[in-house]
Amino acid sequence: QLILLLLFSATFSWGFHRLLLRSGAPSRELQRAVRQQEFIPYLQPLVDANSLQWCGAEVLMRWQHPVDGMVLPDLFIPFAESTGHIVPMTRSLMQQTAAQLGKAGLPSGFKISINVSAAHVADASLPADCAAFLAAFPPDTIQLTLELTERELIATGPPTDALLSQLHALGVRIAIDDFGTGHSSLSYLQKMDVDELKIDRSFVAGIGSDSLSADILDSILQLAAKLGLAVVAEGVESGAQEEYLCRHGAHLLQGYRYAKPMPISEFLHRSEWHNHPSQ
Ligand code: C2E
Ligand code: CA
Ligand code: CA
Ligand code: CA
Repeated sequence: QLILLLLFSATFSWGFHRLLLRSGAPSRELQRAVRQQEFIPYLQPLVDANSLQWCGAEVLMRWQHPVDGMVLPDLFIPFAESTGHIVPMTRSLMQQTAAQLGKAGLPSGFKISINVSAAHVADASLPADCAAFLAAFPPDTIQLTLELTERELIATGPPTDALLSQLHALGVRIAIDDFGTGHSSLSYLQKMDVDELKIDRSFVAGIGSDSLSADILDSILQLAAKLGLAVVAEGVESGAQEEYLCRHGAHLLQGYRYAKPMPISEFLHRSEWHNHPSQ
């Protein structure tokens, strides 16, 4: 117990301690929270770089904690990933999202992105989870994308290839999240059948100020164009960043410039196609 505690304190923040170790058994605390549906979806709009209209959303997990209030994912997801709890947590998130959006009358082609951890990619249940998600929507309305982060190493090789082709057969797209921040960005592109890149916001933040990250950004955009990959730029906060990214061929934009992540009810309320029913 003591060794575990020391290990955690070396790895995680004090906020995390307060949250999970207070309960004595962090694993049981996560299980309890899944059962109580305390892990809930927030949506942040994805914006089309041509029209600047909302055309989709990324699903971001929040922990609606009975004592601590709304907890951001950085405090609990690393632990949930290391213990495997992330799989039932993500499944619950997908079920809630599908239940709330399935009959919302989303416009055709609406994109929904979900963050998926390495533990889930190694789990045979992922295609079934995606099929169940898609089945909640009228046929061919939404475009589901799974975002695999570079923070975690995804095993490349025949089992992952087989899984990705199963997902592609369902019409699911694969994105590499936080592209450019890991050690393996380029080798993932070489070894895995990927459809999209999400450029990490650290590169977007450099536009107009830091010429090195702007150079890296340009190289990523050129590489993506050559490989025929769609590019999503995250962390867009300023008009200058928006203008630069549109001019250099990013396809989708995401960031506080458009909206912060919000509850699904608020997202549907603010959605532009609700205000312009003729579109
Ligand atoms: P991410 O996937 O890179 O998600 C983008 C994060 O950037 C979100 O933080 C979002 O709120 C934030 N963000 C968006 N636009 C801006 C901006 O313009 N400026 C700034 N400063 N930040 C912006 P959030 O929601 O706190 O999520 C943090 C990370 O936690 C995510 O990073 C993702 O890696 C992880 N995460 C969130 N939800 C899930 C989930 O359901 N499953 C898994 N496995 N990981 C998740
Ligand atoms: Ca993401
Ligand atoms: Ca990201
Ligand atoms: Ca990021």
